[in-house]
Amino acid sequence: MIRDADAAMYLAKDRGRGRIEVFDSTMREAALQRLETGNGLHRALTAEQFRVHYQPIVRAKTGEIVSLEALVRWQHPERGLIAPGHFIDRADELGVTAPIGEFVLDTACAALRTWRDRDEGRRQLSVSVNISARQLRQAHFDRTVERMLVRHDLEPWRLCLEVTENVMLEHAEAVARSLHRLRRLGVRLSIDDFGAGYTSLSYLKRFPVDVLKIDRSFVTGICDQREDAAIVSAVIDLAHTFDTRTVAEGVEDAEQLAALVGMGCDYVQGFYFSEPLPSEEVAALLTTQRLRVTRPQVPRPVA
Ligand code: C2E
Ligand code: CA
Ligand code: CA
Repeated sequence: MIRDADAAMYLAKDRGRGRIEVFDSTMREAALQRLETGNGLHRALTAEQFRVHYQPIVRAKTGEIVSLEALVRWQHPERGLIAPGHFIDRADELGVTAPIGEFVLDTACAALRTWRDRDEGRRQLSVSVNISARQLRQAHFDRTVERMLVRHDLEPWRLCLEVTENVMLEHAEAVARSLHRLRRLGVRLSIDDFGAGYTSLSYLKRFPVDVLKIDRSFVTGICDQREDAAIVSAVIDLAHTFDTRTVAEGVEDAEQLAALVGMGCDYVQGFYFSEPLPSEEVAALLTTQRLRVTRPQVPRPVA
């Protein structure tokens, strides 16, 4: 009975806390899955089941790769490769996001060092790592970051930390302090999923950010929804007045890319260029230099 009540409680929490859910048997399956995920997560770290894939972030005008975003995956012995959406929240509840996050940071810094050295430092390549609220609230997170930079002999500007705007909202004071300390180290900071949460323009004034990542939900509609196009264009202009660069997320076709270039977006990322890839494949991609180049749309001559 307690187990079933627990399942109903999790659903209530999922649907937004402070509410009541009545148990029914379909919740049992979900509860079992959660339990299994939870047990597995504890083992996964020591069993080295986490993998890091990397998605290129490219300069919009030239298709040149400027950064790689590290995205964690769980190589589950029975369930195969699991996307972070299925375990990050659970990991957070269990308090294991910090060690997973540290593993991602370490792996990503090591990968960047290899790519940089192979490139003989010719390119201004950086790596972008997603940071959870819990990591940012750790008392000495800046020291963890500093340790990683030293361990992998990386210049601080080559590391960009991505933080979602909701993280900034929830623990504004502690987060602001942490971000300022990180900034003093010289690492770069970006606001992830910009526009998708409780966006407050005052972040731009209060927090020292280098990059705004425009949420995929606006990029998807950029060619056929006037409102989305207006939002994206306004965010790009606003960012530029703060001397902040913009990355458009989730670019899937040439039309979206052309629209973004027209609006002056600095960088783009999405399946149109590449899916997230294992580090060996990134190395191969880097030797080919460019992904896709936007060509100006030349009108066809009328016959
Ligand atoms: P995110 O940081 O917004 O990462 C972008 C997500 O969009 C990735 O999903 C990526 O595979 C997907 N994506 C990229 N381009 C396209 C596109 O053109 N179309 C579509 N439909 N999707 C695209 P993924 O890898 O499943 O990651 C989901 C989220 O999990 C991430 O969203 C991030 O918030 C979180 N996450 C991933 N790795 C980490 C990590 O190491 N630590 C933490 N704290 N969170 C992570
Ligand atoms: Ca991100
Ligand atoms: Ca994002």
